[in-house]
This record gives sequence, structure tokens and C-alpha cells, in this order.
Amino acid sequence: MAHQWRGVIREYIDRLDIDSSCPIITLGEGGTPLVEAPALAKLVGAAEVYLKVEGMNPTGSFKDRGMTMAVSKAVGHGAKAVICASTGNTSASAAAYAAAAGIQSVVLVPEGKIALGKLSQAVAHKAQILQVQGNFDDCLELARDLSENYPVHLVNSVNPDRIEGQKTGAFEVVERLERAPDIHVLPVGNAGNYSAYFKGYLEEFNLGVIKKVPQMWGFQADGSAPFVYGTPVRNPETIATAIRIGNPASYELALSARECSEGMFGSVTDEEILWMHRFLSQEVGVFVEPSSATGAAGLLKQARAGKVPAGSVIVVTVTGHGLKDALWALKDENGNEIQPQSVSTRAEEVAERLGLA
Ligand SMILES: *Cc1c(COP(=O)(O)O)cnc(C)c1O
Repeated sequence: MAHQWRGVIREYIDRLDIDSSCPIITLGEGGTPLVEAPALAKLVGAAEVYLKVEGMNPTGSFKDRGMTMAVSKAVGHGAKAVICASTGNTSASAAAYAAAAGIQSVVLVPEGKIALGKLSQAVAHKAQILQVQGNFDDCLELARDLSENYPVHLVNSVNPDRIEGQKTGAFEVVERLERAPDIHVLPVGNAGNYSAYFKGYLEEFNLGVIKKVPQMWGFQADGSAPFVYGTPVRNPETIATAIRIGNPASYELALSARECSEGMFGSVTDEEILWMHRFLSQEVGVFVEPSSATGAAGLLKQARAGKVPAGSVIVVTVTGHGLKDALWALKDENGNEIQPQSVSTRAEEVAERLGLA
């Protein structure tokens, strides 16, 4: 029988910080495709560009890699409930893994700023959902407070188990390419994933599997770019709701990852994000949520500034599925609604309409 992917804990048990006695709560996360994107390579003038398509995880984002670790350990410690603050995908993932574990999940989301697809996932998996009158940063502070003083286990990326699980993305890239890319590009919110990939690459380097770690390039939205400004942003604003974070939880860790990898942080406008969102759908064939296009948008900005060395091999993590926040696809570049044309059932008329006749 063909080998079936067993989820990141079983696949990488020797390389993760987890006891063999810990129960494993998995939905088969990880093992996502690394898709070659020649159209993007051509656009940015690189030799090879690959997309690590994290929308193919069980709940449609990379959050599942960390959530399998965090919820497994929570259950191992006897937790009956997990809590998280979320811009959407963390709550979808926490709710699904809690359901699989048979425990309760509580999610705190900022009022009015969560994509419908993500909210429906949390509801479907029976999370207790509270809309907090504040932004993501307020939600996280509240979740931390509750987990310190009440019997609920925090599963945000400040929980080191999350970073630990997410580092497996780097292992998979190295296995597939049989080398490290020259540059690894990511969208950045709290920067947990940025730090997690760096950790994964560093471990591969220390084992002698790769000869160097890639430069880590992280991109934020202009209206929500504390890593670029070097200071928290009080009222972060961007259409890329998954990275609308003004006071990143993994700040120091990410700064050290940037330094050690000789990487960078940059930012792009919402227009640049939406342009790249459309390009990835139309020219590459990969449908992502807008936040997930931020990395590739940043890569293009760097290319236009002459900062992408010709000949480089680049991996871009696209973090979440397009169906999460699908309405963006139904608008054209001018923001107008796109409606399918209505036709009769006559082949002649349809052929004419399609320009075939
Ligand atoms: C969580 C998330 C991010 C940001 O990841 P961080 O680890 O907070 O930097 C980016 N894109 C999507 C789709 C996400 O769900």
C-alpha cells in the first residue's frame, strides 16, 4: 500500500520536542505541495521560484502544523479547554484540533475584522466564539490573562509548541529541493512563522543537511508594519486581516532570525497585495487569501529595486487558502463586482459570446 502522510508529529517525531508518551492529535497536516511557479520566477528575474502551498493543510492554513503540537501537548497535560486570540486562521485550526481531541475551544476574535470563511470554520467546529471590542493585540492580551488565571490552555504562537510544529515546513522544503533555497519569503504578522522556518533551516544546517541557511525575507502591509518601523503600530489597518497585527508577539525571536540569516523585513501596499493575489490566481494557478500574497508582493517590490540576484532559488510560503476570504476574487482591479454572464442554452449563442464563432 502506498505510504500515506501521517501528520507532522509522526513524520518528524525524532526532531520535535514532544514525549513519546504524549497523545497525538492530528488531522494529517503538513506534507503540502511545493509548486514551481515559472511565471513568478520570470516576473522577478530569479532562476527558480516555488510556492509552499500551505492552504492545502486540513483547515486551509499553515496554523495546523503548530496546532497539532499545541493541542497534543495540552491534552497530554490534561487540559479540558484551549483558548486563543485570532485574526481567523488560528481559531479555525484550534477549533478543529480541539474537536478532534474532544475538548472545548474558546476563541477571541477582534470585532468585525474576521473573514467569513474562517469564522464559519470556528462555528462549524463548535468553538465558543467571543468578539472582543478591540483589535488582535487586545485579544491576545486577554487570552494570555485568562490562561494564566483560569483553567484554559493558551495555543497562540507565543506558545513555543506552535513554533516547534511550524518549523517542519522548512524540513519539507529541504527534502524536496535537496538543498536550502537562497531566499525564503513569508508574509509576517506576529512573525511566528518567520521564526519557525528559520529554526527549521538552522536545525538542518546544524545537522549538516544544508550548507547555508536561506536569507529570511518577511513582508508586512504598509498600514501594519511594526518590523519595518521598528516600533508597535497602535491602530494597524490593512485588507490583509491575517497580518493586521500592530504589536507582534514574537518580536525579539524574529529580529534574531533576520540577523542570523542576513535577511530583511519590508512592506507593501494593499494595492500591491491585491495585484499579486490576482497574479498568483491567474498566472500561477494557486488561489490564496490576500494576506498570503504579501510575501510574493514583497518579492516583486525587491525585484523592481534590483535586489533579487539573478540565478537565485527562492521559496515563498503562501500561508492560507483563497476560499478563506473568497470575496476578493469577485472584484476586478478597479474594485467592481465580477458577475458571470447569463446566456441561453443555444450553442450558437454561447459560441458567439465566447468569441468562438
Ligand atoms: C497567521 C497567518 C499569517 C501570519 O503568520 P505569523 O506567524 O503571525 O507571522 C499570515 N498569513 C496567514 C494566512 C495566516 O493565517
